[in-house]
Amino acid sequence: MTTTTQSTTDMGSQENLLSYFHLPEAIALRDRVRAWVRDNATNQGMAWEELGTTPKEVFQSLGRAGLLGMRHDPHWGGTNQGPVASVILAEELCRSTYSGMAEAVMIHADMSSTHLAHGGSDDMRARHLPAMIRGAEICGIAVTEPEAGSDLINLATRAEKRAGGYVLDGTKTYVTNALHGDLMVVAARTDPAAKPSRGISLFAVSTDTEGLSIRSMAKKHGMRSSDIAIMEFRGAHIRDEALLYQENCGFGAIMARFEDERLAVAAMSVGMAETAIQLSVDHVRARQAFGGTLWDLQATRQRLAWLKTQANAARALVHETAIRMARGENCQSEVLMAKPFAGEALLDIVRGCLQLHGGQGYLEGEAIERIGRDARVMTIGGGATEVLLEEVAKRM
Ligand SMILES: Cc1cc2nc3c(=O)[nH]c(=O)nc-3n(C[C@H](O)[C@H](O)[C@H](O)COP(=O)(O)OP(=O)(O)OC[C@H]3O[C@@H](n4cnc5c(N)ncnc54)[C@H](O)[C@@H]3O)c2cc1C
Repeated sequence: MTTTTQSTTDMGSQENLLSYFHLPEAIALRDRVRAWVRDNATNQGMAWEELGTTPKEVFQSLGRAGLLGMRHDPHWGGTNQGPVASVILAEELCRSTYSGMAEAVMIHADMSSTHLAHGGSDDMRARHLPAMIRGAEICGIAVTEPEAGSDLINLATRAEKRAGGYVLDGTKTYVTNALHGDLMVVAARTDPAAKPSRGISLFAVSTDTEGLSIRSMAKKHGMRSSDIAIMEFRGAHIRDEALLYQENCGFGAIMARFEDERLAVAAMSVGMAETAIQLSVDHVRARQAFGGTLWDLQATRQRLAWLKTQANAARALVHETAIRMARGENCQSEVLMAKPFAGEALLDIVRGCLQLHGGQGYLEGEAIERIGRDARVMTIGGGATEVLLEEVAKRM
């Protein structure tokens, strides 16, 4: 188990005077994701929002475009391009303005299937990773519970050892991709007598496991093109082979992989912020008022300039962190700063951008209205701002 990923391709391992984000392969990847977004999200995004999920065919299409295996070894069909590639993918998928789709994809590709890669047996990896990289199987991660969100160390779902396997009992909430997914990485307590952080294990659980029921949660405020579900385990038998990493080592594994997750979430915020600003610049340049356009009003220009400054600062922090991670540096603190900084900046930015759209920004179906709703979760999910800042403080 590692805390940072040393990637094997040029996009992560090479010293170069150019920022990794300006290397030809990074530019080519960005173009490839943009092309995928143009050909798929632009015309299908509204349908995903109405459906309340990103259909499996969309994952398959991303798989065919080679965009689901950037965190995975070529042996399984991946490209192992590392954190810079993940940031590019997250930013560009969010530029589609259908960030629910981006969330579903990043959770699958960067935040859950990676646990199989790092903690699964060869047999499990051989059975699932190629399918996940093709988008034929969808993965997710179930950590949160009704009584354990930010305080996840106190999770109560129990995995009791029995001959040949474990029996799971407990409830998981807010599980993205569970409703239509195939395999969920589930955190459960295997040693209730141990110190809370030493008694948690991770399991790869098939969504059709007997004793597991999965149902939709209430309709979400935003991120509507991804689904969230409640998973109820009642005497659900899983086999020994479902264990990831070693027994009772799950909490450390979650923490280690959180760095990749939080970097991806921070990059999503950057993509959303830059898109909101671009939409707003286009809007105010066209919108006629007081004998000119809204852009002609100094207050409008200066407000947008300030929002752009905030977005650039967030992007600089996220990109620098990704580059340092790609070089194999320990970036725990930087990721802990980048995620809340980008998320809080995004909230300021969408507030300003919605204001500049006037009533139009309040209409359902408008891209800026959707970004405004999607943005709200970015300071909550993947570690609330306060929780992460507390961790930053501990390291000061
Ligand atoms: C759209 C969406 C998708 C999600 N997807 C997944 C998923 O796929 N898998 C999964 O396991 N979970 C998922 N979650 C759950 C998410 O990770 C939790 O919502 C998050 O960790 C916060 O937990 P909570 O909602 O229980 O809030 P709580 O823990 O109840 O916290 C509420 C608020 O209290 C404040 N707070 C909490 N702790 C502190 C502190 N120490 N100091 C100061 N203030 C504090 C923060 O403002 C926080 O937002 C998802 C959530 C959403 C909304």
